[in-house]
Amino acid sequence: MQTSPVRHSVAQRPVVQRPVAQQPGWPDTEVLRTVKHRLAASLPLVMPRESDLLKHRLAAVAEGRAMLLQGGDCAETLDTSLSVMENRLDTLSRMAAALSGRTALPVVVLARMAGQYAKPRSSAFEARDGVTLPSYRGESVNGLEFTAAARTPDPHRMLRAHEAAAATLNLARALVGGSPTTTRGHVPEELFVSHEALLLDYETPLTRIDPYSRRPYAGSGHLLWAGERTRDPDGAHIAYLAGIRNPVAVKVGPTAEPDELLALIERLDPDQEPGRLTFVVRMGATVVRENLPLLVEKVAASGARVGWVTDPMHGNTYTAPSGHKTRGFDAVLDEITGYFDVHHALGTHPGGIHLEMTGEDVTECVGGHTGIGHDDLATRYESACDPRLNREQSLELAQLVAEIAAS
Ligand code: PEP
Ligand code: MN
Repeated sequence: MQTSPVRHSVAQRPVVQRPVAQQPGWPDTEVLRTVKHRLAASLPLVMPRESDLLKHRLAAVAEGRAMLLQGGDCAETLDTSLSVMENRLDTLSRMAAALSGRTALPVVVLARMAGQYAKPRSSAFEARDGVTLPSYRGESVNGLEFTAAARTPDPHRMLRAHEAAAATLNLARALVGGSPTTTRGHVPEELFVSHEALLLDYETPLTRIDPYSRRPYAGSGHLLWAGERTRDPDGAHIAYLAGIRNPVAVKVGPTAEPDELLALIERLDPDQEPGRLTFVVRMGATVVRENLPLLVEKVAASGARVGWVTDPMHGNTYTAPSGHKTRGFDAVLDEITGYFDVHHALGTHPGGIHLEMTGEDVTECVGGHTGIGHDDLATRYESACDPRLNREQSLELAQLVAEIAAS
């Protein structure tokens, strides 16, 4: 029987007719076409029933019966290793234990992993020493090295990212499925994976019709989210998320208006399905107490049953004197505190936390009990994009959030 490689992929019509923000500007459309056909012919990484299970778990988060712990790299690289994965899973697992121990709520662990290879950028170009090149947009688009060759978008990178995602997920499943004593450290009892649905040339060919429900599901991860820069309710990214049946999330920044969130709910969760939609609030420690209450009130008044989570990282980024992008532990904790205060005052469930973190002993964020300062940033700054909490900072933060959540 003759099979067409694109047979299982979902038609792209509704998506491509809308404005598409933050795409790479591929140089060669013929290569792009070939790559998309190969992605469309490849095996999905996750199954619809797993995504349905995550949706079920997230329904408990939305309804105040569970908490979400979402965490991982800002930008995954292709050179990850077993020990990096073990350390990350161990750290997430200990954080989850701290949160559930203190709140008596189950914790859903959702890694930013096995697909977090595409980055939105505030500037399309980066200038260094008089040389201007395209910004780094993640391993599925171009390379981090500051050379014209590396920074030129290459569609083949989507195939390498897909392979890396498959290998990463394979190992994660082996670690979580195996006996905890055969691995270094702990693993979460149940693990789901998520990433930003940024690169529609990657997501669309990996979207498949579930043969059982006959509905489209992203095959690239269990939960996909739209970022702060691509959350236009009328834009292509939201149209894409509206078309899949996975649980989805949207980042909510400091300028978000209640009507925008109501429009997102209408597009993404018209049936008010618990667990389908999570708002990830990333406003910054200085504004969250002021800006969040109205949003939560209006959404609650609409009758929507969305989940809420705080991302205390992206609104608190600044450049240190050394030139490193960093975040302070105290600002991160302050945003979380403000976020929980708002929910506690309104009687709504704060849901959980979304962090950029690693299980490694890196020096990318300042503060915490180990006292990392600006002068320490150069010691071990390894992130390909935004600064991550290191292992100690992540564990310390989880203890503090557990206290706040239980109070
Ligand atoms: C991110 O999560 O890495 C990111 C770019 O976030 P945001 O869309 O909230 O800026
Ligand atoms: Mn980031």
